[in-house]
Amino acid sequence: MSSVVDHLAELTGLHDRDVLDVSLVGALRDLMQLRLAAIYRVVGEGADRRWMTRARLADGDVSAQSDSMWADLSTYPMIDVDADRALCLHRQEAFTVDGKPARAYFPLANEFEAIGVLELHTDAQLRPDEVRLVCSILRIYRNFQGLLDYSERDTLTGLLNRKTFDESFLRLMGRAMAAPSIADSPPAVGDGRRVALQGSGHGSAWLGVIDIDHFKRVNDGHGHLIGDEVLLLLSRLMRSTFRFNDHLFRFGGEEFVVLMRCGSEADAASAFERLRTNVAGYAFPQVGHITVSIGYTSLRPEDTPSVAFERADKAVYWVKQNGRNQVAHQADLVARGLLTEATMDNSDAELF
Ligand code: GH3
Ligand code: MG
Ligand code: MG
Repeated sequence: MSSVVDHLAELTGLHDRDVLDVSLVGALRDLMQLRLAAIYRVVGEGADRRWMTRARLADGDVSAQSDSMWADLSTYPMIDVDADRALCLHRQEAFTVDGKPARAYFPLANEFEAIGVLELHTDAQLRPDEVRLVCSILRIYRNFQGLLDYSERDTLTGLLNRKTFDESFLRLMGRAMAAPSIADSPPAVGDGRRVALQGSGHGSAWLGVIDIDHFKRVNDGHGHLIGDEVLLLLSRLMRSTFRFNDHLFRFGGEEFVVLMRCGSEADAASAFERLRTNVAGYAFPQVGHITVSIGYTSLRPEDTPSVAFERADKAVYWVKQNGRNQVAHQADLVARGLLTEATMDNSDAELF
């Protein structure tokens, strides 16, 4: 019993979801002498839902395996590759299956939806009291994830909040800029320190800033409540436009930020252009049509979060001055002599 409490104390001391999942499978393996413990998350939408391995620890493994966060959706296995796992997700109930090995499946959900499955392999089928123990641990895990969501997400739109931007940015850079190496292997179990997680090599990293055009008119003409609804609907358009592993933030009132990996500049440009056209083509209830101005930049190894943001924001500013409802690549504007390179490094700034 005390080892259960010890493990829970360790788990709830972690504020990093990646490490939390790895620690959970590690704790379960240690507590119950499992052949295998794995957390699979559902990614994708509609008919194209797939399993992403968040943490998988087999007997004798020193460290857990996980899928790269930045891989293409199509590289993950389809939901129906494992019938029992799919059944658990669908039914949202835990069950055990006898066999060699015996298996147990536990649904993972958040406040709104089913999000994945915990799968355990054992020599003998789990007893009811063992199933109950795992369910209790998962309830604590779920409550704890809920607390993390509450502190990391914007309450209106559910997008990530500004507070989490720097951390997200630095992680993306850590992966984007480091050469693939041994440091990219998954973290050691039970090691709560910050560790390099997934492999890199999935293209370059991009930051886009999105600002609604003439949003004051929406508020003035229809009231704040309708304005808020527009923000919520816009966040939905963002979710459906960008990929599951892009990071979407509500940065301020009607300003949004996207951090993403893309194979090429053309991919980044088309993703932002897709958002622009999706927004322009959407009929917002009562309000009708609105547009957005978008500026984006590729991330550089020496960038800090604020320097990169500032670059993309300059491009937004340029769009605002030049007709709105456009997407601008900051480097392109600089190359065309329309913008000067913005820098927050004010070591040689003139002081007044
Ligand atoms: P521009 O095209 O130049 O961006 O014009 P704009 O009217 O969008 O100007 P600006 O970006 O400066 O104005 C933002 C407005 O967004 C001001 C404020 O009334 C509104 N706003 C900010 N936060 C919220 C919010 O949480 N809810 C609502 N309804 N409105 C907000
Ligand atoms: Mg604004
Ligand atoms: Mg605006």
